[in-house]
Amino acid sequence: MAAQGSILTNKYSEGYPYKKFYEGCQYASQVEQLAIDRMKKLFRAEHVNVQPHSGSSANIAVYLAVLQPGDTVMGMDLSCGGHLTHGAPANISGKTYKIVSYGVNRDTNLLDYEEIRQLALKHRPKLIIAGASAYPRTIDFKRFRDIATEVGSYLMADIAHIAGLIAGKAHPNASPYADFITGTTHKTLSGPRGGFIISRKEFAKKIDSAVFPGIQGGPLVHVIAAKAVCFKQAMTPAFRKYQQQVVKNARVLAAELIKRGFKLVTGGTDNHLILVDLRSMNITGRDAALVLDDSGITVNKNGIPYDTMNVWHTSGIRIGTPSVTTRGMKEAQMPEIAGFIETVLKNIKSVKVHKAVAKKVKALCKKFPVKI
Ligand code: PLP
Repeated sequence: MAAQGSILTNKYSEGYPYKKFYEGCQYASQVEQLAIDRMKKLFRAEHVNVQPHSGSSANIAVYLAVLQPGDTVMGMDLSCGGHLTHGAPANISGKTYKIVSYGVNRDTNLLDYEEIRQLALKHRPKLIIAGASAYPRTIDFKRFRDIATEVGSYLMADIAHIAGLIAGKAHPNASPYADFITGTTHKTLSGPRGGFIISRKEFAKKIDSAVFPGIQGGPLVHVIAAKAVCFKQAMTPAFRKYQQQVVKNARVLAAELIKRGFKLVTGGTDNHLILVDLRSMNITGRDAALVLDDSGITVNKNGIPYDTMNVWHTSGIRIGTPSVTTRGMKEAQMPEIAGFIETVLKNIKSVKVHKAVAKKVKALCKKFPVKI
């Protein structure tokens, strides 16, 4: 936050380090090069671009770099956990390319790699996207690589959600397998709000030109400085420990929710998030998220695979453990949190209960203050 709030925000620096279109960019170049070097080391990457303003920009830049309008792209369906930029009709990706979406298995809600392979063999996409916004299990990037190689397509791994887990070695790295890796620095990576692209060396020029001047103008030098700080922190043993704890907390929270009768999509989690299927409780994701919010617990309403409810209501909620882990909470606090969620959702109409839980949530948070 100190880097992001610095005077670096005042400098225009179009172009790439030491080849800027403006004068007075020596420090902007230094900052950007530092961020690039650190990220390369962190993800064992050949080429890195730290200029994308967001995860969405990073994805669009990759498409611009290697696709032509009308090319076929395969991505995960938004309703099964994919992201808007993976080909949703409302997004520029869905309007520009021929999208073939893959989902998850209807029974297990897991990625079905054989089904994805068959779909890829049939449609021969130019690009396959692996990655999700709401998938609680490990993504097998090697399986995706094998499919992409078999059909002769590029593979892009969108690690927006799991970048921190990967950096902390709590999820397998996509670097050995993907031609392009995109992501955000503000989710599990715990850095500033922004995006990045990693690619093989051979695509360096295409990627850089797609970001600038392809879709962006001046980079946000202050944000890039904060990215450099974030990448340094992400190389420390403490960060690795934190990421492992995020996953441990999610596993315990999932088990505690199951114990209390909740149904979880895929039956649990391997990563930082949990998707709760509320259909058997006869409440919508919207109502659940609203009363939890009133009770001091922020989750978000989220569709579950093959949801029959619309996006404003949904049949599920998505819960993440990074925030409570940042506050220092560990496995011991997860049963208490699961208990709060149970109490609120089983007393959905009782404002008195919500107020009482909110008090307890406040007391718990006081014991684990946010350290700045
Ligand atoms: N990709 C995935 C998988 C995401 O989950 C998100 C954000 O939720 C993005 C890309 C987009 O990131 P941003 O909101 O920074 O554009």
